[in-house]
Amino acid sequence: MSTATHCPYCALQCAMHVEAGPGGAPAARPAPFPTNRGGLCRKGWTSAELLNSPERIVRPLLRTDRSGGFAATDWDTALEHVAGRLKGLRAEHGADAVAVFGSGGLTNEKSYLLGKFARLALGTSRIDYNGRFCMSSAAAAGGRAFGLDRGLPFPLPDVASAEVVLLAGANPAETMPPMMGHLSGPRLIVVDPRHSATAEQALAGGGLHLAPRPGTDPALALGLLHAARAQHLLDEDYIAARTTGFDQAWKHAAAFWPEQTEQVTGVPAQRVREAARLLATARGAYVLTGRGSEQHAKGTDTVSAWINLALALGLPGREGSGYGCITGQGNGQGGREHGQKADQLPGYRRIDDPAARAHVAEVWGVDPDELPGPGPSAFELLDALGTASGARAMLVLGSNPAVSAPDAGRVRNRLSALDLLVVCDFVMSETAAMADVVLPVAQWAEERGTMTNLEGRVLRRRAVLAPPPGVRTDLEVIAGLAVRLGQPAERFPADADAVLAELGRASAGGGADYAGVSPERLEAGEELFWPVADAGASTPRMFLDGFAHPDGRARFAPVGHRPAAEEPDAEFPLIATTGRLMGHYQSGAQTRRIGELAGAEPEAYVEVHPDTGVRSGVADGDWARVVSRRGAALARVRLRADARPDTVFLPFHFGGEEAANNVTNPALDPVSRMPEFKVSAIRLERADPP
Ligand code: SF4
Repeated sequence: MSTATHCPYCALQCAMHVEAGPGGAPAARPAPFPTNRGGLCRKGWTSAELLNSPERIVRPLLRTDRSGGFAATDWDTALEHVAGRLKGLRAEHGADAVAVFGSGGLTNEKSYLLGKFARLALGTSRIDYNGRFCMSSAAAAGGRAFGLDRGLPFPLPDVASAEVVLLAGANPAETMPPMMGHLSGPRLIVVDPRHSATAEQALAGGGLHLAPRPGTDPALALGLLHAARAQHLLDEDYIAARTTGFDQAWKHAAAFWPEQTEQVTGVPAQRVREAARLLATARGAYVLTGRGSEQHAKGTDTVSAWINLALALGLPGREGSGYGCITGQGNGQGGREHGQKADQLPGYRRIDDPAARAHVAEVWGVDPDELPGPGPSAFELLDALGTASGARAMLVLGSNPAVSAPDAGRVRNRLSALDLLVVCDFVMSETAAMADVVLPVAQWAEERGTMTNLEGRVLRRRAVLAPPPGVRTDLEVIAGLAVRLGQPAERFPADADAVLAELGRASAGGGADYAGVSPERLEAGEELFWPVADAGASTPRMFLDGFAHPDGRARFAPVGHRPAAEEPDAEFPLIATTGRLMGHYQSGAQTRRIGELAGAEPEAYVEVHPDTGVRSGVADGDWARVVSRRGAALARVRLRADARPDTVFLPFHFGGEEAANNVTNPALDPVSRMPEFKVSAIRLERADPP
């Protein structure tokens, strides 16, 4: 039997058929779909292997001792135990004693029900999710500029007809290979400190690779704006008719003539002029940003600087041109819309907006005053766990913060200090291994639900096969706990279609409006891009007639350049930056358990320029300790002549001693609360193998 569904991993959400039948192992095959053009990367091809993994957890587990022992139990016992402990901690310490940590990998329905569970069943303000570490800077900058943020406010195939595409801090050739099918026609300008696979393709196609010093992207964007204006290439009519705030933004760009830009970023002045001309004179052009722009303590301003450039060239809100953010996690878009963020209610509504509270409270059948207010952001929530001012218990769904949070050693210490850690997962991730209770949940192909991909396209995930006996869906877990915490059963349905219908009502009239999304429309193959306000609606291209601010105009943000939160010095003379590999996904909890992927990339590594290797006393193939002020990560040295001598690169898919996030900096962006993942001052030391 073959069932059409979508990949469990990244935001491209490639379409696939999963074949599953008696006696045979499930297998994934690519399926026709405009976003991935019938392609899958190796992660997609191998994704079904985990369904039958011997490492699946199939019984609820209760910790028996601190040294790692668990005992299997039945669901009633596990849920009663969890609910009882939560009630006790709430009674003793108040509702905010319990925290919830969600994920940009959860379906729309789970994201929604989890937010509702936190606010109603637990009454806590302490809920946030790992998307805070992923997309929050782009979401903040997009909202600021356009009044509403949708990753790509146009279908991805639109970019194929452009003449030039600038990719800032994105490496889709490695992270989303099928996306490159849309990028083979345009000339690419790739902005990345690393000589990435995408940079290589840009150069091969006659494009440019601009390799700024990590943390200097705003200066480069300002320099490109300056160079475009100096060459009289700004779209003055568009600026006058469709935007506000150019003059204030220009004050920051005025000083960044190309030679000054070169001094700050290291990108040659001539390249800055050339890139500006190429982008500004293209018949169709897109500026696309990724995590490399966002994961900074100034991530919001960095993305704003790229948006300012796009606005000055008249790109957003036009057919054949635009600005977009390439989301990362599978539901990086939907996961940030439905209320699992600390400051948000469903429909992209602010939790401190009285009208939003009244609307959602009515859908939920409660008084608005019952809803808690905004809570701390992801890192702040994690960093306070087990302290006098933090939560005493936490429920984790779809996330592995012991590996993926910044300053991960510090976060692991905080997780250890909890009175109760409950983790829903299907394998024993590093975070699950620290839990007091592990609840085994279904995987993507074992349940129904919807996802919203990087284009704002709502997709139907279908159940291909039943979960193993003893395993429940996340929705069933949430519903089971809610009832045990005293909620009426009808308030927490475990059926995905019922949750989607309620999500539609709760989001109606909000920015991300799903009111017209229905299983029937999705099963009929309709292409649904939000906002979907009613049963006839879909919005493939946004902002063509105006932006979402009340006056219909986009806003330039008055942003300048400022240094990274931490600069190299004598003790830590190098910069570490982090990123993804083709063969692994996020914390690697899933992909490190897939034979082909683990075989291809079995261990952490660090890319080092040969001169830097000599200076640091490490040779190709050595093990090195990458040491920052916060901790150390072990990694095998790979010398690369095309690396920047001042920068090393670490993939972040490995755990324990090899976790790249052992060294990363938790300095936070003042707007998005995004940590400074991409710039950490480090030194290299030769080390023994782990
Ligand atoms: Fe497609 Fe991403 Fe899955 Fe690869 S991981 S198959 S690019 S959705």
